[in-house]
Amino acid sequence: MALHQVEHGRGDDSGDVYSHPLSQEPLPKYRVPKRTSPPETVHALVRDELALDGNSSQNLATFCTTWAEPQVHALMDECLDKNMIDKDEYPQTAEIESRCVHMLADLWHSPEGRGTAGCSTTGSSEAAMLGGLALKWRWRERRRAEGKTTDRPNLVVGPIQVCWEKFARYFDVELRQVPLEPNATGLRPHQLRAHIDENTIGVVAILGVTYTCDYEPVAALAAELDAVQQDLGLDIPIHVDAASGGFVAPFLQPALPWDFRVPRVASINASGHKYGMAPLGVGWIIWRTAELLPEDLVFRVSYLGGDMPTFALNFTRPAGEIVAQYYTLLRLGHEGYRAVLTACRRTACALAGDISSMGPFRLLYDGGTALPAVSWTLADPERAGFTLHDLTDRLRRRGWQVPAYPLPADREQTVIQRVLIRHGISHDKIALLVEDIRAAVDDLTADSPPPQQSFHH
Ligand SMILES: *Cc1c(COP(=O)(O)O)cnc(C)c1O
Repeated sequence: MALHQVEHGRGDDSGDVYSHPLSQEPLPKYRVPKRTSPPETVHALVRDELALDGNSSQNLATFCTTWAEPQVHALMDECLDKNMIDKDEYPQTAEIESRCVHMLADLWHSPEGRGTAGCSTTGSSEAAMLGGLALKWRWRERRRAEGKTTDRPNLVVGPIQVCWEKFARYFDVELRQVPLEPNATGLRPHQLRAHIDENTIGVVAILGVTYTCDYEPVAALAAELDAVQQDLGLDIPIHVDAASGGFVAPFLQPALPWDFRVPRVASINASGHKYGMAPLGVGWIIWRTAELLPEDLVFRVSYLGGDMPTFALNFTRPAGEIVAQYYTLLRLGHEGYRAVLTACRRTACALAGDISSMGPFRLLYDGGTALPAVSWTLADPERAGFTLHDLTDRLRRRGWQVPAYPLPADREQTVIQRVLIRHGISHDKIALLVEDIRAAVDDLTADSPPPQQSFHH
């Protein structure tokens, strides 16, 4: 029985949020309330619930933007009423989306930045659906033209993010997941031949493998597919899932050819809301040339009396994220992205140094060559005296979110931990994390019996 029952409907003239009737009982969970309530009270109570989510700046699991300049907040507010799909009501917003597409096409070395086809999406997941559909459509057109069967398309991938599993299931494509070799963090070129055939619609290469944050070797994968074409006559395109790397590699590894510099790369997706540093809800997909996007996937909507091609899974979509992406591209420029990401990389490398010198850990990725992030495993899981899941729990007590999870097949016996360094995560914050990891390891290993004894009762 609750100690502080309130009489329903009792008035409260104090104006105090926490003595308002609404705040004296649990907030409605299953029914829309009968009465209206003052905005300050409702706002305070909802905000208090949200505080239970934890502190996003201590969430080291996410790739996504958790910090933005006040001007981004302002633009998001100013765009609250803008619907991306209404291209004739908001032609300037449509123009801004188009500028972003051309800027990214140019950033990724499209042979024709101005004429390239591309669009915004809600994130890389929607972009993956669109990219996958274009691969499937092109493969099917080619097969039909050759009078061949079109009922068993497959997509060859390495350690993909779940969006590609969704694409395969939703759009009826067989997913051929190439298992990880021992010590590998991604697809290796020599593995391709065993998995591709005439029904392969494409190979997905990942720039920033979700598990370890390493890059797959796009150019080497393309070279192997070139050799396959020579030997077997199969012309298999690459789609690069650059969800995070698409906004990192151009600034931190400008000499690395992973993008349209590699002729076999047909399309690229990236998440604006990851290292693009835009707020949540924006991704991008760009095709090398407009011809690679099959015409019958494109719908035409009226646009200022003319017509505007669209390719999207959604209809109504908020414009703020796209406008904020444009702001971020203008605001940071090459110089700014490089500066922010260089600072992130320096912090990641420092963390990697600390992790590897602690003793129980072995680095899988050290933050230096791909994303500004670190991943590690236990050097000797049998003898460590604790698991990485234990460490995750300990760190959680201090508010840190550092996930522990198994690698995909065939390395699912390896459990790893990963930390992403993003805009807004300072070196100082990571130094504090390191102290907490040290303290947690000391604590966990003090609790546990020495490993030799645990087997001889
Ligand atoms: C995050 C991620 C995705 C999904 O992107 P969203 O923008 O969250 O939809 C896809 N692929 C990779 C490699 C990712 O890191």
